[in-house]
Amino acid sequence: MASITTDVVIIGAGTAGLSAAIYVQRAGKKALVLEGNVYGGQIINTPDIENYPGIKHISGFEFATGLYEQAMELGARIEFESVLRIEQGETEKIVKTKMNDYVCKAVIIASGVVRRELGIEREKELTGRGVSYCATCDGAFYKGKVTAVNGGGNTALEDAEYLTNFCSKVYLIHRRSEFRADASQVAKTLANDKIETVLDCTVTGLEAEKKLTGVEVTNKITGEKRVLPVDGLFVAIGQIPSNQAFADVVELDEAGYIAAGEDCRTSAEGIFAAGDCRTKQVRQLATAAADGAVAGLAACSYIG
Ligand code: NAP
Repeated sequence: MASITTDVVIIGAGTAGLSAAIYVQRAGKKALVLEGNVYGGQIINTPDIENYPGIKHISGFEFATGLYEQAMELGARIEFESVLRIEQGETEKIVKTKMNDYVCKAVIIASGVVRRELGIEREKELTGRGVSYCATCDGAFYKGKVTAVNGGGNTALEDAEYLTNFCSKVYLIHRRSEFRADASQVAKTLANDKIETVLDCTVTGLEAEKKLTGVEVTNKITGEKRVLPVDGLFVAIGQIPSNQAFADVVELDEAGYIAAGEDCRTSAEGIFAAGDCRTKQVRQLATAAADGAVAGLAACSYIG
């Protein structure tokens, strides 16, 4: 086990984490980013971003790559390791992974959220065999086929629209009659004649031989069940926090998000939380980047 010293360890290489790295480096301190997966976070799978101020259109991949390159060119370091826990030393903090101890003066947790699963029978078995959580990654496999998207937020509606580039028809299944997504996105989606909405319904079953052949939906109001014949189901029903690894050092709220306000300060001195992992009202790309700036500068001022 090696011991590596730096100024600020940033946990997570999504928009908040990489924005924090940019601000830390520009403030003259050393940022080391730890990422258990790939850089970019959730946005990397968004086909088209239309609401980041100053950029009319950009793909999630291009946006994330731009952020990553900017942070690296400023001298930030990244290691692809999952964080096991944070330990508070006398003066320093130790961020532990399986391979290394990262000793630092301040920590920024920007660990994001993880996808919510349907939690129904055969979901795991059929993942990769018709059930997907990423339209950008898997959409092209469904050329000329009929698919369904489950969810009513921006992700689901963007995914449904994106899939119409390949699919002959896309069902959009949502558990209510009103969508959560932005009004402009809702208007665009509803105007797309390849998309058929299936409202007030939840997905209650998956039909398959070796691959998915149909999705059973149940109407929440009438109780009626029906099977939609589809080759693919794209699940886009939101995310949940995954902060248990930090629960012994920082306070979490009732829903499991890290309790921290707009100043990104947590209950622990010198540990900050940025982006979707913290308690907040608006989880957007712009607010994740803003949190990165706030937490990065707060960490530098804490170090002094
Ligand atoms: P979200 O906004 O939390 O929406 C999740 C959707 O899934 C909701 O419609 C919810 O229904 C539904 N849902 C939740 N649990 C369910 C369950 N167990 N069964 C069936 N349906 C369920 O998630 P998101 O769309 O992934 O977006 C996350 C955040 O990222 C949001 O702030 C969003 O605005 C943002 N985002 C922005 C962009 C962009 O700006 N380009 C793109 C993607 C996402 P209810 O509505 O009934 O609660």
